Amino acid sequence: MNKAHGQCLCNAISFTAEYKEEKFSACHCDMCRKWGSGPYLAMAATLNDVKGKEHIKSYKSSEWAERAFCNNCGTNLYYKVTAEGQHKGITYISMGLLDESADLVMEREIFIDQKPEGYNFAGDHIKQTAEEVMAEFSTED
Ligand SMILES: [Zn+2]
Ligand SMILES: [Zn+2]
Repeated sequence: MNKAHGQCLCNAISFTAEYKEEKFSACHCDMCRKWGSGPYLAMAATLNDVKGKEHIKSYKSSEWAERAFCNNCGTNLYYKVTAEGQHKGITYISMGLLDESADLVMEREIFIDQKPEGYNFAGDHIKQTAEEVMAEFSTED
């Protein structure tokens, strides 16, 4: 397991993130861009040693997930899958919270068909449309 420390902008919340792979994704969906102004850069991780839990505010942003943020500074913390199925409980933490992120590699861009024309990420990685993402997430087992 890889580990990285992270905290929100005002430091009220801090934690240790544990993750299997040094990979992150970028989500260009309308909701993520409304949430944080740009694409949501995030990685699947488990949060441990969480301090300042009382500042974590989360809400159900859709039928299948919740989003959490610091109730003091407003920093976006994570996106967590709440829908039943194989993805339930997976938490995608905001990559910008981590102190150590230099080794992380962009693995995929999702909701690429909702990305504004005005910018692009460099490099070669998987790009999935909304339809492709939904198909992957609705696979039942
Ligand atoms: Zn904060
Ligand atoms: Zn999104």
